[in-house]
Amino acid sequence: ESLINRIAAGEIIHRPASALKELVENSLDAGATSIRVTVKDGGMKLLQIQDNGCGIRKADLRILAERFTTSKLSTFSDLSHIRTYGFRGEALASISHVAHLSVMTKTRSDSCAWKASYTDGALAPTKPGQSVDPKPCAGNDGTTITIEDLFYNTPTRLSALRSSSEEYSRILDVLTKYAIHNPKVAFVCKKAGSPSPDLTTPSASETPNTIRLLYGHSIAKDLVTVAVSSQDPAEDEASMDMDEPEDDPEAWRAEAHITNANYQGKKMIFLLFINHRLVESSRMKRAFEAVYNGILPKGAFPFVYLSLEIDPRSVDVNVHPTKREVHFLDEEVIIEKISDAFTNALTLQNH
Ligand code: ADP
Ligand code: MG
Repeated sequence: ESLINRIAAGEIIHRPASALKELVENSLDAGATSIRVTVKDGGMKLLQIQDNGCGIRKADLRILAERFTTSKLSTFSDLSHIRTYGFRGEALASISHVAHLSVMTKTRSDSCAWKASYTDGALAPTKPGQSVDPKPCAGNDGTTITIEDLFYNTPTRLSALRSSSEEYSRILDVLTKYAIHNPKVAFVCKKAGSPSPDLTTPSASETPNTIRLLYGHSIAKDLVTVAVSSQDPAEDEASMDMDEPEDDPEAWRAEAHITNANYQGKKMIFLLFINHRLVESSRMKRAFEAVYNGILPKGAFPFVYLSLEIDPRSVDVNVHPTKREVHFLDEEVIIEKISDAFTNALTLQNH
């Protein structure tokens, strides 16, 4: 059974960067405004993430790493989210099957922090011979998750990993993207023992500033902001309807920061967030490449950051759990409308 669990976990957690992505999403879900990551050996030896979010109640620590344990489904109607994010409540469970997982956490109302370790979905002793019960300790409000020896028991996964420097650059890539999407949150990433971080963002910034900080001035200097939504078109003039956008299953809105060219790059940089989750859409990517085709000189590549919010019931991310290739309802119409807005913005900018 544990072998099956490990194989299933390896489908969700492919490499250090995919574990980190789950942890960052959890920290953001917990309302963190500070996320600090420490990495050893490309995340294979150590991957630690410290946040100042809401913390986890002591009573929830016992079942934290059981499959389908989630605090994020509160009503029956929320079950539609299970369809859209097919592996809810599976991240920590999966990690506990393929690594040594420990958690230190404190809620605002707790007087001390609590520490617990997990193996194969259940509490485990932190030190050999100890009981498995969570132990009180000193700590700040928030949660620190520590993953050690990733894939120690899954040699095929371990051998599929690249060098620690390449795994580390994938970690930095994930953090860069989440930092751009969450400019109010301060991110720090460093190698264990290194005095200087490799990535730092301030708190309370704005997306274009964070793009400038992380991708450089050459990208940020000609950044254009594009906002477009299902409500925008002039097509539908008598649209004085009283529907709140959130109640309309067809309502969507998109905000983008796009640039003319990324002359230093080798390919288009495309950051796509749908409902605040980093995902991929090759269809969208192709459409945007077509927009730029003809606008850009040969050998120049654009930067595109797009945040799209749509009804979660219309998103299907289950095509592949780790690639997060998404499909959604009215995909073609939405992509076309965003592409048109891009074309307009770029044409205006060039004249
Ligand atoms: P999910 O995020 O889908 O609920 P996870 O396995 O990623 O599933 O996390 C399980 C639960 O653990 C979450 O629902 C949340 O209650 C709790 N949790 C995990 N990480 C954090 C964190 N950094 N801060 C607060 N709670 C957390
Ligand atoms: Mg999660």
